[in-house]
This record gives sequence, structure tokens and C-alpha cells, in this order.
Amino acid sequence: MLFSLMYHHINCDKFSNDLEIFKVHLEYLVSNYNIVTPEDILSNRQDNLCITFDDAYYDFYHYVFPLLKEYKIKAVLAVPTGLIDEQTTASHTQRLSLSHQEIYQEKNYRKFGSFCTWNEIKEMSNSGYVIMASHSHKHKDLASSDINLQQEIFGSKEILEEKLGFKVESFILPFGRYNKESLTLLKEHYKYIFKVGQGINQSFSGVNGLIYRIDADGVDNVATLFTFKRRIQYKLKSLSKYFYDGIQK
Ligand SMILES: [Zn+2]
Repeated sequence: MLFSLMYHHINCDKFSNDLEIFKVHLEYLVSNYNIVTPEDILSNRQDNLCITFDDAYYDFYHYVFPLLKEYKIKAVLAVPTGLIDEQTTASHTQRLSLSHQEIYQEKNYRKFGSFCTWNEIKEMSNSGYVIMASHSHKHKDLASSDINLQQEIFGSKEILEEKLGFKVESFILPFGRYNKESLTLLKEHYKYIFKVGQGINQSFSGVNGLIYRIDADGVDNVATLFTFKRRIQYKLKSLSKYFYDGIQK
């Protein structure tokens, strides 16, 4: 079995966990699960779990990256390539200062350096502790009809691969949204496609090619995500998706 958790921020006002709580999450996850990223061999003696963080905010670099090194575990980071700057002149305090909404208001993120820079992304990728996934180019809804799908899906992969010198095989769907056309293109270019959806997976092949993630933002006690009842709900969700998508085809 493979669980995948979705996180966004640390110490922010929304879509976030406080650092002290997140540390307790990690303690629990490391003691109870085999922590994996795509391409790792899954354990069949223990449940597997993949940690993912969306959007590549600076708080990931500042708070999470050191913890991954400390615990010697890996995570997947979803990078919207068009929102990443080469460098920033913002101070460390400024970079952590905005609320989730402020980050996106009038492109405040450029002035405040709210996202990781390319240097930070390269450093994390080279460390081996962070596996980079594309999160589209401009964080677009891939079910929308007025976007450049080629740029969002393939352009972002090209940029990441060129910057990192690594093959990028994972894509994390912005807003969890897609349509038939975008899914076909995604499957052409990526081996692993993640979405949100409160489901469970057999492996990184996911459910009909989509890896379901469980929302772990704002969760005071991470164990509550894995109760017997919740596990049954995830299984039912994945089963119904499996059959529903099957009927759609
Ligand atoms: Zn996102």
C-alpha cells in the first residue's frame, strides 16, 4: 500500500502546519511508515508513504529541508517553474512574512521572495533529499480551455530538467484539476502524476495512472489521518474512482 500526503506551508496562516506540529508529524510518519519517493522500491512488509509539498514556498527550504536531512528521508516538491526567480533581494524575514493570500496579491511574491529561488531548488535537488516535480509553469488549472497546455505540461518539464540536470518524471496537478486532453498529454510526458483526492494507492502506478494524495495541512494530530475508519474511506474512494474512470473510458 502507498499513502501520499499533501502539504503546502509551514508556519503560514493557511494550508499550513506549525513547525512544532510538523515535527511531530515527521516523528510519527518515520516510526510507522516506509518513507518513499517515486522510483524507490516499495516495502511489502510495511505501508509506504510519500511526502509531497506543493508550490515550493521559501518556508519549505527554510523549515522542511533541514528536517529531511536530519531524519534522512526524502520528499517530493512541486515546482511551478514560471513563479521561480533566479534570486531575490528580499531579507530572510520578508521571505517568511506574507500570509498565503498576500503571496498571490499583485504578485507580492516577487518583491518578498516568497518562493524558493533556482539556487535553492538546485541545492535541494543535488542533496538527493528532495525530488522535484513539475507543478505546471504558471500554476494553471489544466481543465481550463484558455491555457497553453504544451507550455504548462511540457515547457515546465524542459525548464526543470535544464536547470537541474536531472530527469523530471513527476507532475503534481495544480488544484487537482485536469481534463481528457491534458491527462493524455501528461501521460505522454510524465511517469508519475499526483493529485489530491483523499484516496490510497497500491503503488506509484496510482489509480488508473493518478496517484491520490491525502490533505495533511492543518492537521494537529497526524495519526487521525490513518485511523481504521479513514483507511476504509480512502480505499472506497480509490475503488470508486477505479471503476468510475473505467466506465468513462
Ligand atoms: Zn499548487
